Amino acid sequence: MGTDTSTGRAGARRRAGGPEPAVQDSPSRSSGPTRAARAAGRREAELRVAGGPAGRDLAAAEQAAGVFLTALGLSVGQQATADTPRRMARAYAELLSPREFDLTTFANDEGYDQLVVLQGVPFASLCEHQALPFVGTADVGYLPAGRIIGLSKLARVVELFAHRPQVQERMTKQVADWLAARLAPKGVGVVVRAEHLCMRLRGAQVAGTSTVTCALHGQLLADGRCREEFLALTRGSSAPVRS
Ligand SMILES: [Zn+2]
Repeated sequence: MGTDTSTGRAGARRRAGGPEPAVQDSPSRSSGPTRAARAAGRREAELRVAGGPAGRDLAAAEQAAGVFLTALGLSVGQQATADTPRRMARAYAELLSPREFDLTTFANDEGYDQLVVLQGVPFASLCEHQALPFVGTADVGYLPAGRIIGLSKLARVVELFAHRPQVQERMTKQVADWLAARLAPKGVGVVVRAEHLCMRLRGAQVAGTSTVTCALHGQLLADGRCREEFLALTRGSSAPVRS
């Protein structure tokens, strides 16, 4: 995993991502920034972060969805449901495809040294155990060091790890780990609140419960005052924002 946060600028982006964006920097898309670009790119830097997985076969997924629904006793031959397998395949494909984005970071010229927190980022993910969605919001914050990040990109990082088969605990940690590695801030904190349809609709059938997970790095973990401030800023925040 790379810890460099300014690997190029607009003209010489590198690509991070593929099936496991958290751990891969594929050099395939670029020969890398020149020395001059690398030096100039310190002020504003972009890193292309890949979208969904390669090798998806939507036609096969649609056919399989038809077989699946039919095996469960649903009729998919009627006019109203004839398109259901196609819609189902596309819905799942969308839920498993984060949008590609450019991770934009800037030099922290003003020396801003307090918390930056984006509250209430809405997300939908897919529980890898039941293939049912879990939906909620994430609060993402960091304590800047040398670089700051475009705010909307924090929401994109949530989507990057939400749109894949997941468990909430891992997703929370992946968002925090990824930001810690890419941005090298003094601290990172991520709080995720979600409702799991696998719990609401089946099994325990406990509607209205939410699961809260938290991942902290650096000073947000080690410094009690900093941790308290972050948790106070994220406590009970649930108003969704749009990226
Ligand atoms: Zn589940």
